[in-house]
Amino acid sequence: MSDRPPSVREPRDGNPIWRLYTVYGPGNRRYAVLGAVATVLGRGFGLVPAFIIGLAVDAIFLAERPYAIPLVPVAWMPATPAEQLYVSIAILLAATAGGAVASWFEDWGWNVFAQRIQRDLRTDAYDRLQKLDLAYFTGRRTGDLMSVLNNDVNALETFLEDGLSATLWIVATVAGIGVILLSLNPALTAITLLPIPILAAFTLLFTRIIEPRYLDIREEIGDLNARLENNVSGIEVIKTHGAEIFETERVRDASEAYLRSNLAAIRVRITYFPGLTLISGVGFAITFLVGGLWVLGRPPFGLSGTLTPGEFVTFVIYAQQFVWPIVRFGDVVDDYERAKAAGVRVSGVMNRTPAIREEPDASALSIADGSVSYDSVTFSYDDRPVLDDVSFTVDGGATVGVVGPTGAGKSTLLKLLPRLYDVDSGEISVDGTDVRSVSLRELRRAIGYVSQEPFLFFGSVRENVRYGSFDATDDDVERAARRAQAHEFIRNLPAGYETLVGERGVKLSGGQRQRLALARAMLKDPELLVLDEATSAVDTETEALIQKRLAEFASDRTSFVIAHRLSTVRNADRILVLDDGRLVEDGTHADLLEQDGLYANLWRVHVGDIESLPEAFLERALRRGSIVDREDEPS
Ligand code: ATP
Repeated sequence: MSDRPPSVREPRDGNPIWRLYTVYGPGNRRYAVLGAVATVLGRGFGLVPAFIIGLAVDAIFLAERPYAIPLVPVAWMPATPAEQLYVSIAILLAATAGGAVASWFEDWGWNVFAQRIQRDLRTDAYDRLQKLDLAYFTGRRTGDLMSVLNNDVNALETFLEDGLSATLWIVATVAGIGVILLSLNPALTAITLLPIPILAAFTLLFTRIIEPRYLDIREEIGDLNARLENNVSGIEVIKTHGAEIFETERVRDASEAYLRSNLAAIRVRITYFPGLTLISGVGFAITFLVGGLWVLGRPPFGLSGTLTPGEFVTFVIYAQQFVWPIVRFGDVVDDYERAKAAGVRVSGVMNRTPAIREEPDASALSIADGSVSYDSVTFSYDDRPVLDDVSFTVDGGATVGVVGPTGAGKSTLLKLLPRLYDVDSGEISVDGTDVRSVSLRELRRAIGYVSQEPFLFFGSVRENVRYGSFDATDDDVERAARRAQAHEFIRNLPAGYETLVGERGVKLSGGQRQRLALARAMLKDPELLVLDEATSAVDTETEALIQKRLAEFASDRTSFVIAHRLSTVRNADRILVLDDGRLVEDGTHADLLEQDGLYANLWRVHVGDIESLPEAFLERALRRGSIVDREDEPS
């Protein structure tokens, strides 16, 4: 799909499955060792019956050779045919029981190994993901990232559970059968093993064809997941626009794409497996033919020596058993290819280097005064310039309003302070120290940031206010809530501070959510405060009350307040006016009114004095709209 956002997969990731084993294998080794030992033992037990049956046919019924079991002293062997039969049956039963016990341990070992690796991998992948820069998240779809952490990690399960054990089982089976057959008849063994190189070549061809198809499937699952996640999140818009049919069609399209990618892989897979069976079946028929002629006394291809009927039976049983390792080998290769396709996406997240990193020699942040300086700051989102050469210095403890038309770059300007993004050029410093040279964690701890649309986690009101200040007491939480004018409405919620909010919880209004976010920031008691339209959804009456408390709270810390409602910032110590990414005016409310520039015009709009707005201002506002319109047009 051409409109698909960047893939979570990164180019040249190396072999993700190998890395999985090398990184997570050692910590979970004991389970793999248990599984491996049980696999080999189980295979050993599994090979006993055919050997014993062949021996019994020759020694007991045809008297073609003595009753002798390798590695067991001849003196221990029973003498009479009846006794030999009992011993044979006892060995068969013991081997079956041994095989069952080994099978339990084999499954336990490998399953625990696989589950633990998945747990470790998922936790690590999430940890790496959350450390990636904000730009990574804004450029990708939530559902696709969820798909990596969920579907792709889960898709490794089958191979992790079965891959190593099956490989060992196959090697043990082929080696075991090979050794036994070689000891019976080397020439016929060579004929029995003939299909192996042909199968190897056929499998190589299969992996080449299936690999890109499995990668496609993973991408399509990500797409489908992203579509579903988007639709569930946007259900209100879907309903209010009566867009159910449209969305069902879009989900059908995504499902259809997933179906098509699956069918493309299925076509290859269902050709591969019968191909394997066919090749090994032909091999079996050749063994049967050559062995049969040999027992009849007419060995073909100039073969010489004898082949007893019992040996022939053993050969036929083993040659037949040979089909299973081959089919299982096909399964392993197929599971491996699927796991690899999923693993590539998981390592795409794991191996990505965050664009915003802490310097190795980052110093601790110590804020004494709290002055903030922007020096020739320029910033673009991808290639789109947003801030152009912005410079200002704010004294510690000052309250600074940031205003300007929509899209002027106000939010972006202040997202640079906690390093949600890094400047392209220029420098931002706190107390004279470049924010890029201090500990990222400490920098962010020092800044209370309330965004335009605060997010509430599913949990109680108390947990949400406490978020980030996990040691705060209940009293601290309530004090912060009172300061943010949130205490009263919280008390009126069905379970007060214990009311569940966020996803699946009680729905709060925009203003209520903003007040919880304010309380959260106040509880944190940060040295610097950034409020990005933090009270925009609160009614003017409540806002006035919040303003009073905020003024007290902000009096001893440097605060930035972005607001469209200019009354919110009119009492600020200083107001920065941004226009098209440039700092165009800077001063107190009174200064700026006197300058009679952009701010003065915005103020006229605010107080409803539209009549006295200059023509040029209106034209510009209109043009800004038309620019947006043009940009919105599909190219
Ligand atoms: P508003 O008053 O409407 O909130 P603003 O002045 O805060 O606007 P910003 O949110 O900083 O403006 O956005 C400035 C420009 O950057 C806008 O053109 C916006 O489309 C663009 N922009 C904002 N965030 C991103 C992003 N994550 N990726 C790409 N472009 C972005």
